[in-house]
Amino acid sequence: CGIIAARVSDDATPYLLDGLERLEYRGYDSAGIAVRTATGGTETIRSVSRVGDLRTLAAARSGDALTGVGIGHTRWATHGVVREANAHPHADCSGRISIVHNGIVENADRLRATLERQGHVFASDVDSEVIAHLVERALAVDPDLMLAVQIATAQLEGSWAIVVLDARDGRMVVAAERSPLVVARSARGDFVASDIGAIAEWCETFVALRDGDVVELGEAWTWSSAGITVPVPFPTPSPFAAT
Ligand code: GLU
Repeated sequence: CGIIAARVSDDATPYLLDGLERLEYRGYDSAGIAVRTATGGTETIRSVSRVGDLRTLAAARSGDALTGVGIGHTRWATHGVVREANAHPHADCSGRISIVHNGIVENADRLRATLERQGHVFASDVDSEVIAHLVERALAVDPDLMLAVQIATAQLEGSWAIVVLDARDGRMVVAAERSPLVVARSARGDFVASDIGAIAEWCETFVALRDGDVVELGEAWTWSSAGITVPVPFPTPSPFAAT
């Protein structure tokens, strides 16, 4: 339903929570955030109530310091009942990979059955969770996260806007197909949202992903569109910016 992600220099949590509050108007049944910790782990907080509840839970947490890399989601359930384990972000078996997903994975049941046969253990009933496991499976063969997301999305049928976070090194890759997603770079950092309004306070220019696009957000960005992958020359955000 709603996606926000941030790569900033201070704690990402307030950006994610503010962004989720701005996405509340869409309606949702649960919400969550995952922020990379300074030790390379993930702090995930999810709730089946309001974003304000997430804020309370986030304020009460104690643990490793948080980094500026994080993802957030408001869910409108399509697969799986409304319960905390079904709220996004979802993770792979090891907890290294976290994802948020808007849309529907039409072939999730088939993918899940195959992944379970291969030893993957699922924590939810949600179609989206297969994406985390597909990325995990691809990473076991090649450590390139962007390639892993391309391999994972090539196996999906349906619609998706996703943000994939690797807690080990803070890499972040986004992808979209028939579901809106914009990326932006500003003086505050890099931002991703399903809705410009969620991040407009911090960014002036936005680039929309086209169907099939995969973008890695790092010190530099790498943008893959229609089979062509190029580094993004800043300050122009996208070599594929719409005409
Ligand atoms: N299909 C996913 C789910 O049921 C995502 C739904 C959404 O776009 O919020 O959780």
